[in-house]
Amino acid sequence: MVLPSEPEFEQALGELTLSIGPFLAANPSYQKAFEIVQIPERVLQFRVVWEDDQGRAQVNRGFRVQYNSALGPYKGGLRLHPSVNLSILKFLGFEQTFKNALTGLSMGGGKGGSDFDPKGKSDGEIRRFCVAFMSELFRHIGQDTDVPAGDIGTGAREIGFLFGAYKKLRNEFVGVLTGKGAHWGGSFIRPEATGYGLIYYVEHMIPLACPEYPLTSPTTLVAISGAGNVAQYTALKVIELGATVISLSDSRGALIAEEGFSKEVIEKVGSLKLKGGYLESYAEFAPEEQYKYYPGQRPWTLLPKVHIALPGATQNEVSGEEAEALVKAGVRVVAEGSNMGCTAEAIEVFEASRRQGAGGVWYAPGKASNCGGVAVSGLEMAQNSQRLTWTPAEVDAKLKGIMGSCFETCLNAGTKWSGEELTEGVLPSLLYGANVAGFIKVANAMKEQGEWW
Ligand code: NDP
Repeated sequence: MVLPSEPEFEQALGELTLSIGPFLAANPSYQKAFEIVQIPERVLQFRVVWEDDQGRAQVNRGFRVQYNSALGPYKGGLRLHPSVNLSILKFLGFEQTFKNALTGLSMGGGKGGSDFDPKGKSDGEIRRFCVAFMSELFRHIGQDTDVPAGDIGTGAREIGFLFGAYKKLRNEFVGVLTGKGAHWGGSFIRPEATGYGLIYYVEHMIPLACPEYPLTSPTTLVAISGAGNVAQYTALKVIELGATVISLSDSRGALIAEEGFSKEVIEKVGSLKLKGGYLESYAEFAPEEQYKYYPGQRPWTLLPKVHIALPGATQNEVSGEEAEALVKAGVRVVAEGSNMGCTAEAIEVFEASRRQGAGGVWYAPGKASNCGGVAVSGLEMAQNSQRLTWTPAEVDAKLKGIMGSCFETCLNAGTKWSGEELTEGVLPSLLYGANVAGFIKVANAMKEQGEWW
């Protein structure tokens, strides 16, 4: 049977296939689990008809991919972006399954969304879209079944509208979505969690990869892409620790600050993005002479010197050529805030550099380095079940602990299962480590639940 082309999903599958090769060679019985885990348990597709401000009917496609429930209820965000299609949601749901396993919490994997474009829509249109979307989705989700969250285009406002619609349809106030407002069932630190968690993960990488570039030093140069939730909180944590953030970007271009972004400017970027603005209007809130804007470009080739690179916008936002430019600029740590931020070619450039030993690049895949967001979503679910709210300090401490143990898990599995002789100075592959560790955990649970034998 010829399946429709699903390039993003095939890319994610290809990455996993490569990474678990050495493990499967030593454990051939797991081949069956690998065959089964590739197929989502369930794919839901539906139409969403909503009313625009002129009273006209508009229609979009809605999706929820319930990928794997071996470790808990399906869990993963809802993406609202015109590019959304089944290939993208399958890749995201597949990645999510292993990412959630790496958090150590009880969560299966899922992903959903719509090709609805929230850009340029009024609050009323967004609310009516969310209500229409939930009027179908509600019958497929539940606090113990499937718990969606935010992603690109779905922030606190959309989660609020979706939650309100679910509550009316079911007459239940339950933790069916995460990323809720902190005063009505949300968790403290959830908005910050992906960006902060990424930095907590990187803090474990630096001492092994490049102790000369600590995040506490202003001479450590950190390149970030994106300007949304993940990029903003990544930048704020880097600035809080003391290193220098030299770039941000959005769908229209890149903004470079050789002397570094200030906390105030990042906060203004936050307000700008809430209003649907673009970095091209940076002169309205940042000293123009200290920033340079490059329309239509990504940051990676614009930086003469960079030590740490953190993609935080979307998938495939670092090409092979851009990866080479980063290596040339001296990058030592690349950790994804975005999902599948690097193309297969870019990953190969970084992995080849790592294999050369001392002075090479250490790459962390998103399913490990950005798992902080879903980890705090898991903590939100735990708080909802207890009807309790933990303090920001409690949640932050738990997030740090989860990122630390996720790093150790990837390091150990990478050491054991990358199929490489680790000679002096060569660090283990976190790519192989994350994929193998996530896969083993999911596959073992599936086996114990009688899903393969
Ligand atoms: P947001 O919608 O808040 O921000 C996305 C940013 O990326 C925006 O600056 C947007 O630009 C830019 N962007 C989106 N699509 C493109 C594109 N095709 N080309 C260039 N730039 C683009 O999303 P998040 O910050 O939440 O998500 C960013 C990434 O992190 C995604 O890959 C997401 O899956 C991943 N992620 C998010 C988590 C979370 O908790 N939010 C958790 C784990 C991973 P513009 O402003 O111009 O639209």
